[in-house]
Amino acid sequence: MKMQEVIMAKYGEIALKGLNKNTFEDLLVRNIRRRLKSCGEFHFTRNQSTIYITPENDGADIEKAVEWVSKTFGVAAVQRAAVLPKDFDEIVKQGMPYLEEALAGAKTFKVDAKRSDKKFPLKTPDIQRELGAAILDAYPHLTVDVHEPDVTVLCEIRDTNAYLNARRIIGVGGIPVGSSGTALLLLSGGIDSPVAAYMMAKRGIGVDAIHFQSPPYTSERALMKVEELCGELVPYCGDIRFYVVPFTEIQEALRDNCPEEYFTVIMRRLMIKITNRICAEHDYKAIITGESVGQVASQTIMALGCTDRVAEYPVFRPVIGMDKKEIIEISRKIGTFETSIQPYEDCCTVFTPKHPRTRPVIADVEKAEARFDFEPLIEKAIKGITVKDFKLGMENV
Ligand code: ATP
Ligand code: MG
Repeated sequence: MKMQEVIMAKYGEIALKGLNKNTFEDLLVRNIRRRLKSCGEFHFTRNQSTIYITPENDGADIEKAVEWVSKTFGVAAVQRAAVLPKDFDEIVKQGMPYLEEALAGAKTFKVDAKRSDKKFPLKTPDIQRELGAAILDAYPHLTVDVHEPDVTVLCEIRDTNAYLNARRIIGVGGIPVGSSGTALLLLSGGIDSPVAAYMMAKRGIGVDAIHFQSPPYTSERALMKVEELCGELVPYCGDIRFYVVPFTEIQEALRDNCPEEYFTVIMRRLMIKITNRICAEHDYKAIITGESVGQVASQTIMALGCTDRVAEYPVFRPVIGMDKKEIIEISRKIGTFETSIQPYEDCCTVFTPKHPRTRPVIADVEKAEARFDFEPLIEKAIKGITVKDFKLGMENV
């Protein structure tokens, strides 16, 4: 008979929640369930801050499922474990062959045991010692190293079964997406805004995205790149609704009517004004951007202040205090980096002024902006928005 296996998803921060804990758990199970649809059929139970995910049949792709679970916000760690009877001899008999894959390439190991069933005849140190001895017997090439082992074998004695595994994968942490409402992300094709999306989703915020496009100054290929980024964010953020705003006429009007040195800051204010409208219409509670202080002229403290003056929602800038190097590190980890560095133009890079104001004063910005009535063009741009949905299940991990 094939060994019964289970995926154990352990949650971190949710375990600390008080009265709302059940709601958080329900949401986490729901989010994991949706992600595992492409991996087969699974059965879910929970106990002691752990979700047990059991394959219903042999057809399940457990390895892929483990990867999906590890990327689900709310999960602190994932283990793939053998489900064994609570009988030490059976644990050894069935467990030794199960550990072969993990132990074959290792030189050193240690055993960790957890015993939540206090009626189990062996105490925690006994389990560790006896199981360690059994492993040394079965795999004589190994030695014990309790400080820095290549492999840690974990044996947990819980309510109904014993669980044995040798591989613990760190999860993404955070809290389940959907537990903190939904916000609208200003998504460019760059490195920073996808990372911003990841960071806010980590705090439980559902993310939809808005992108400003200026054809023919920006190409169809540039848009495809942003769509690709949406697809790459879905495993973390869940479903993403993607709004594309035709921005060309607004940018041309700006170029033709406003002083060049204020071009960037006014353009950003116009982006926010349009974003405000979409937030109001679709009930988004906040705006997210990938801005970082001092990165470019539009991201000085004063320029950000001028942008914020028109925002009608809280603006979340999770990478505001991060160095480019730190942002890149996250973007590599989540897998958006290679897409972000594809060399396609963004609307922010067309008509860029040679000498933008790095310390714009709000009164001057408002005066410069008032030289042209942008309202009709804003109205028109909003009418021209196209929407595309990116859903879990459409993409690859
Ligand atoms: P990123 O690396 O995310 O592209 P950036 O380094 O290009 O950022 P800016 O061009 O100043 O920096 O943009 C700052 C932020 O403004 C971006 O992180 C994003 O949130 C938003 N943004 C810029 N361009 C667009 C766009 N075309 N559509 C939607 N949002 C945009
Ligand atoms: Mg940036």
